[in-house]
Formats: sequence, structure tokens, C-alpha cells
Amino acid sequence: MALSCVAGLAYVLAQIGLPVPKEILFGLAIGAGALGACIGLYLLAGFLQRRWPLGTLKSDRSKGEQFSFEANSPEQIKATIDAVYNNNPRADVPQLVNYLVFQAVAFNSSDIHLTPHRDCLMVRYRIDGILMDVAEISERLKQPVINRLKVLSELVSYVRDRPQDGRFGVSIQGQQIDLRISLMPTLHGERVVMRLLIRADLGLTEEQLQTLGGILAKPQGMVILTGPTGSGKTKTIYSALQEILRQSQNSVSIYTLEDPIEYDLQHINQTQVEEGHDFTFGKALRTMLRQDPDIIMVGEIRDLDTARIAIQAGMTGHLIITTVHAKSAAAVAARLIEMGVDPHSVASAITAIIAQRLVRILCPHCKRAHPPTPGQEAKLGKKLPPGVLFYEPVGCPQCSMKGYVGRRGIFEILEVNESVRKLITERASSGQIHNAFFESEAKTLDENGLAYALKGETSLEELFRVLPSRKEFE
Ligand SMILES: [Zn+2]
Repeated sequence: MALSCVAGLAYVLAQIGLPVPKEILFGLAIGAGALGACIGLYLLAGFLQRRWPLGTLKSDRSKGEQFSFEANSPEQIKATIDAVYNNNPRADVPQLVNYLVFQAVAFNSSDIHLTPHRDCLMVRYRIDGILMDVAEISERLKQPVINRLKVLSELVSYVRDRPQDGRFGVSIQGQQIDLRISLMPTLHGERVVMRLLIRADLGLTEEQLQTLGGILAKPQGMVILTGPTGSGKTKTIYSALQEILRQSQNSVSIYTLEDPIEYDLQHINQTQVEEGHDFTFGKALRTMLRQDPDIIMVGEIRDLDTARIAIQAGMTGHLIITTVHAKSAAAVAARLIEMGVDPHSVASAITAIIAQRLVRILCPHCKRAHPPTPGQEAKLGKKLPPGVLFYEPVGCPQCSMKGYVGRRGIFEILEVNESVRKLITERASSGQIHNAFFESEAKTLDENGLAYALKGETSLEELFRVLPSRKEFE
């Protein structure tokens, strides 16, 4: 195009008898070339934005469909579902299901809920830990949508009167996302909950990564994670296991015992326990120990049998990584002793305890600075120097008016040292153990959270929402 412009111009100039200096011709050629390139890029960008297929549903073997992928506002989703599907007698159900999944991913949702009501199927996304109503699917499409999900996850379509579990995968922009699906019969039909499992950045600080690296490099012992449900413990363990594999160049044997398996991992032997079929954590772990493992992840320790075998394994040349439900890192030892494990074994087996919480990240486009209020200072339990600013959520179109985008983990990592070991053996309280832990330079969840809020990445209110209150240590 640029060449023809220059040629045309030179021709016109020659025709009207004007001399054409070489310098001008050269300048014109460069100018026209640059203009041509700009227009070309502009058109290409527009084309890519509209046309580029960014995701495929990998389970959809028959069609191998591809879709464009962009986030709609909740209002747009509702309008689309009403216009394109609910009121369309020839609605494409597979396309509707894909649309729901892709929008959930675009919104960074952790779960999709499809709740049957008398006359519709309610769609909700869990975004940053909070359930948000998205749309309603008409009664006519209710069962077809559920059946489509059953087909994708290879479940039995005609079974509607008992619970079923399955999974399927989606790949979007090269990112692999697993969907774990659970169906439960209810009065108005089957209730569907899908959990989206996306590999994400953990949010450990450089210092914590080093500490964790050191702990995981030990060939035996027990590393325990604790935190409420949905605080990302499994994700942390998966990342740790993959890091161990990477560093050892796949030369260690890693086994997992899970209920349920949340994510397919390469080079790791994953086993699903079936407590209902008497294949319990304890039984599975006994068998697994005869399979020559180096590292075992035990999804959760919730009974004495599992606790005893895991601790024994941790003291006899295996690295055990597991989770225990407790209010704080310091309360983990007490929880195990409460289950009936003898304090000596607890003290000698555990090498480290990691407590984890997820905080929402403030939207960088709309967050607003503010000095801490006296109430907030009181809650923090410390007087801050004057001039310190925190940030609070506001809400803008970029964050769907929520003020937050995405979440990240905050951690405290407690390496069990001699003084802590002594306290555990003496059945000291969680408060005493907590104090002993943090007499060293280790940072607590509170301190790490506060540092994060001071950087303006999360709000004080969000910290107060997710952090354990001080009372739990007393
Ligand atoms: Zn915003």
C-alpha cells in the first residue's frame, strides 16, 4: 500500500511537470511506509481481538469447539443468557455451558453454583470468597444444562436421585483449569457445584520461600499446614511438591492420599481415599508405606489412626506433608495431642507448621488512601506512627464495582526448634507455644498481613476479616 501511494504521488508530480527531488521522494516513502504499517497493525489488532479463539473445552471430543473469551459484566451475562438462550427455542446448550464456564474463569471465580429452584436454575459464582448471583436459566433448559455437565464429566445422565462426583478440564490461553463437579439431588432437581482449580501464584515472600525450601529439603519429618477451608492449603502443598520434583529432577517418589483429588499432577502418584468404602486415610497410608515412598502428602489428618501412622512414617525416613484443622499454627500440636497422639511423638515428628490465609487484593484502579481510624488502630493493637496510610476498596468498572481483584496467600512459617519441642512435650498451651515460636525473628500472620496492607495491596478491613483474633492465642 505504501509503495503504491509513493508511486502514485511521483507519477502525479511528474505529470504536472514538477521536478521531484530524491530527498522528498525518500521522505515520502518512509512516511507512507510508517502510515501503512500503523494501519495494518491497527486492523490486525482489531481482527485478533474479535476473532482469536482463546479457549477450548478439552473434554468436548466430538466437536473440539473454540470460543472467544472476554469478561462480561454480571448484567451482560444475565442479558446474554435471557436473550440468546432462555428465550430461544433452539438454544445451543453446550454453548451455554461453555459460556458459563468461560465467564466464571474470566471473573477469577473459585466455584460455580447451579441451584435448582421450582421454575429456574440459579447461576452463582464464588468470587474472592463471596457468592454472587449471576443469572437464571429457564426451567426448559434446566435439565439439558445439567445433563450436558454430566456428559462432560463422564457421569451417568439418567441418574438423578443420588449424589455423583466427576471432573472435566478446560484450557484457556494455555492455562489448564480443572473443574471438579459435585451433584446432589434436592427437592427441585440436582444441585451442581463446580470448583475451578487454577494454578496460581502463591504469594510467599522471598524469605519464606527460602525457609520453606530448607524445610522441604529435609528427607524426613512432618510439615503441617493449617488454615480454614478454602484458604488455599492444597494449592500450597501442590506447589511445594512440584518444587521438590523440579529440584530433584524427578528422582524422588511422591505419593498423595486425597479426598478428593483436586488437581492432576504429573510424576506424582495420586490416590483417592474412599472413607465410605472403608479405604480410609489410615488404611491407605499403611499400604502406601509398603510402596517405597520418599514423600507422602496426606490430604488431612482427622483421626488418631491416621495421625499415629503419619507420625511414625515421619520419624522413620519419610517426609510427610499434611493438613490439620486448627485455629492457629500454635494450636496444631495441641490438636494432635487431643486426638490421642502422645506428646513426645508429636514433638519429635513435626519439623514445621505453616498457617495460611487468603486475602483479597485491592483493585489498583480505584483503591483510596486513608489514615487508620482510632477503631482500626485499636483492633491492630498498636499505635502507628503519624502519616501512615492504608488503602480501602472503592469499586470501578475494572473490578465489577467490588474494589478487589483476585486473592493471594499470607503465611506464617514456624520451624519447630528445641524450646518449642520442650513445650509440646510438656503439653503447654497454644498461647505459650505461640510466644515461643515468635521470640525468634519469624513473622506472624498478623505481621505479614500488616506489611501487605501497608504496601497498599489489601485493606485493613480485609485483614480483620481473615486473620484469627488475638483471643485464640489466650
Ligand atoms: Zn476497581
